[in-house]
Amino acid sequence: MTARPAYRRILLKLSGEALMGQLGFGIDPQVVGFLAREIKAVVDAGVEVALVVGGGNIFRGEGLAKAGIDRVTGDHMGMLATVMNALALQDAMERIGLKVRVQSALRINEVCEDYIRRKAVRHLEKGRVVVFSAGTGNPFFTTDSAAALRAVEIEADLILKATKVDGIYTADPKKHADARRYDQLTYDQALDQRLGVMDQTAMVLCRDHNMRLCVYDMDRPGALQAIVQGDDSIGTRVHV
Ligand code: UDP
Repeated sequence: MTARPAYRRILLKLSGEALMGQLGFGIDPQVVGFLAREIKAVVDAGVEVALVVGGGNIFRGEGLAKAGIDRVTGDHMGMLATVMNALALQDAMERIGLKVRVQSALRINEVCEDYIRRKAVRHLEKGRVVVFSAGTGNPFFTTDSAAALRAVEIEADLILKATKVDGIYTADPKKHADARRYDQLTYDQALDQRLGVMDQTAMVLCRDHNMRLCVYDMDRPGALQAIVQGDDSIGTRVHV
């Protein structure tokens, strides 16, 4: 018999780059399929799962602005890119039997639902995975900030930030062999030391609303499930 999960409701933040695998651009169906299976294991264990997905595998407002596009227009393009990623995730999760609803912070009703907090919570209570797309709906923000915002709004117990490394390090472990992984940190430490966990807006929101965060290696099979079952040895925990 599996133990009772340690968390009732989680919010998983997937960057756009997480979906791209080795491709360098766009969406790798193999990676999306893997993520869908990892999520299903957690849903099957009785945990309510919300997702926030980024768009950096397609467009980022900042990059587009550097190429000469108006920044606000670029941010709109970036937010629409997150909707495409959300649809890919919805498709992969539905194919393995999960019930999924995509909600968008920008109105795009032919494609998905609008973001309505009470509706999102109802979906979660019914065991549906809710994918929050289009970030916060505002330019000059990031999907990390959207993750922090939505997690606070839906009263998630934990934000999980899926990354390519197994936590937060004192320095970039790919460049510095002596870099050390933190087991845990406070938001103030992460902010003071400017550790590249999430952008500062997201971290301040998490700190001010006592939201817990776990940064973990998304490529490690079973990691997500182990974390929700209460294994504290995986990843780095950030707390107030
Ligand atoms: N974006 C935005 N407002 C938001 C969230 C995202 O304007 O609330 C835009 C912004 O241009 C950003 C892009 O969408 O660069 C993709 O999001 P993000 O860079 O956070 O994606 P990730 O790095 O997670 O793939």
